[in-house]
Amino acid sequence: MTLEAGREALTHTPLRRGRFAPSPTGPLHLGNARTALLSWLAARALGGRYALRVEDLDAPRVRPGMEPRILDELRWLGLDWDEGPDVGGPAGPYRQSERLERYAAALERLRAAGHVYPCFCSRAEIAASAQAPHGPSDDGPRYPGTCRALSAAERAERARTRAPSWRFRVPHGPVAFDDGVHGPRTADVLATVGDFVVARADGVPAYQLAVVVDDAAMEVTEVVRGDDLLPSTARQLLLYRALALAPPRFAHVPLVVGEDGERLAKRHGALSLGELREGGAAPDAVTGLLAELSGLTPPGVRCRPSDLVAGFSLARLPRAPAALAAARVAALLDGEA
Ligand code: GLU
Repeated sequence: MTLEAGREALTHTPLRRGRFAPSPTGPLHLGNARTALLSWLAARALGGRYALRVEDLDAPRVRPGMEPRILDELRWLGLDWDEGPDVGGPAGPYRQSERLERYAAALERLRAAGHVYPCFCSRAEIAASAQAPHGPSDDGPRYPGTCRALSAAERAERARTRAPSWRFRVPHGPVAFDDGVHGPRTADVLATVGDFVVARADGVPAYQLAVVVDDAAMEVTEVVRGDDLLPSTARQLLLYRALALAPPRFAHVPLVVGEDGERLAKRHGALSLGELREGGAAPDAVTGLLAELSGLTPPGVRCRPSDLVAGFSLARLPRAPAALAAARVAALLDGEA
């Protein structure tokens, strides 16, 4: 390789960066812990950096003391991060409640470019006017576009009695992306979700906007998260496009379910990481179980996250939900695992 070519290769190999973005609204359970482990492995296997971001915009649901507990439990498991609320970093702050002016600036850019419009509809009005089927997840009914074409006079009139939320004007046509676990996907956001909210009437930015602003600002290149967020990805890609930001690669890992195939819950004996830790479970036994649930190790192997980095590939991850047997959790507490 010539010197020039070498320089080219260097400048064209961007730094990879992964992240985990927990909401401090409840303790980490084994499903969240597995997502954290897989996002960490994906970044570390690429030789990338890893950031921890706290998504605490939903103030009424944030539980005091939960953030330090989550961070402590992730460290107990053997994960580490180069950037985060406790260690700082170049793209801080790493707590969304401290980044409000960034979301406001992004909203302003969207507004200036005509990508958003004020919406005066109440939830009840949307529910009543929407004959269309529900959107692709539990986001509620498709927004029928009621406020899309209000005149300036109509807007001014409605703004007298109600503060508006702001909706993204979704363009026609499919959005395509290649998911690192699920493969090629397309979604028609306008047909399924409709124009979606990017800022609530009380001024709080919506998850969709905050996550795009933050992943772009933190130069995240690998988003690995639970596949309950797969339906959000097309909306986020539309925001990347509208804000002229470079999108990351996305990989959505299947959720952990109980033996009955239902979303993991208390009745499956699914304890939080904290409960497992207090109950005497060994962190390498917990990591071993999470790795087994991801098809990375055979049953009964104890390991540290760092043991799993070599050769890790998201492409080999099973696409089906991972089923957790209650007996396996109990064995962690008995020290048998
Ligand atoms: N804060 C979100 C959650 O805890 C994750 C968002 C994301 O990874 O994009 O579900």
